[in-house]
Amino acid sequence: MPIREYKCPRCGASVELLRWPSEEREGDPPCPHCGETLHRQISAPAPSGQGGGCGTGGSPFT
Ligand SMILES: [Zn+2]
Repeated sequence: MPIREYKCPRCGASVELLRWPSEEREGDPPCPHCGETLHRQISAPAPSGQGGGCGTGGSPFT
């Protein structure tokens, strides 16, 4: 599900919205509380490295 997290720069509200790429092209949505344009929160990047739990896969780095 393409849920995006937004934060309001004015009132500080955190808003999670279901946003499809076609909607994102139209710009950021307004804050439901104060009407300020919300700022998209970039989700934290995945931890670096390939440290997965699936140990049976053939690693290309052998
Ligand atoms: Zn707001």
